[in-house]
Amino acid sequence: MSLEGTILRIERSSIHDGEGLRTVIFLKGCPLRCVWCSTPESHSEEIERVGEKIYGTVMTVEELMSEIVKDEVFFFHSNGGITFSGGEPLQQADFVSEVLRHTRKLGINTAMESSMCFPFSELEKVLPHLNTLFADLKDMDPKRHRDLVGIDNHLIIDNIRRAAETDYPLDLIVRIPLIPGVNDDDKTMHEMGEFLGSLRHLSAVELLPYHRLGLSTYNALGIKYRLPDIKVPSASHMKGKRDIIGRYVERVQ
Ligand code: SF4
Repeated sequence: MSLEGTILRIERSSIHDGEGLRTVIFLKGCPLRCVWCSTPESHSEEIERVGEKIYGTVMTVEELMSEIVKDEVFFFHSNGGITFSGGEPLQQADFVSEVLRHTRKLGINTAMESSMCFPFSELEKVLPHLNTLFADLKDMDPKRHRDLVGIDNHLIIDNIRRAAETDYPLDLIVRIPLIPGVNDDDKTMHEMGEFLGSLRHLSAVELLPYHRLGLSTYNALGIKYRLPDIKVPSASHMKGKRDIIGRYVERVQ
């Protein structure tokens, strides 16, 4: 019987999550609860109904593949492909691995964004089928990480290091969500830089500025948004933080 996955939504023609035009497949289910999360509707793996709105749908591997091949011509002309995001794709690692395997067989580029907060054995199911792994690094301080995200960072840091030590021919790009006044003090930036600079294999680091998208979904789901009124960081603020990481790592975007 074909594997099934629970999908939140599919977004086409994204230019932010890998090479070329991407079809981004957002999955339901995440073990974390980041206070800045912009997709609270992805947290539960269950399909949720709020009024007229339904969050999530179940698809087989074949059904998702038939959606993916619809965009083949765009992938071909832009060197694009698919990107799994979430939620946390590793929560459905068997399903994701199978879709990635079929997608790669068609010569389509593959990427996945992950919180890296799952046993490495789950990550190993998808690594052979990936062109790019976007690995999130949210904080270096274990206690603050627990306060912000719900769990300390030991497994995440260990998984990033282990992913950087594998010999799979994939690009490892570490993404840091920059939340002003929360995880972006200079000491933390230096600690992140030191850690990232020590990795055996790292293609690039991306600093992602905080934004407040998703606030209306919190209201719709009746979930309290726990961050205070934080301003979106300015371009010069971002540059200052990138400069610090850039002392340790060659490519910082
Ligand atoms: S890991 Fe991503 S999807 Fe999960 S809570 Fe954090 S920001 Fe949201």
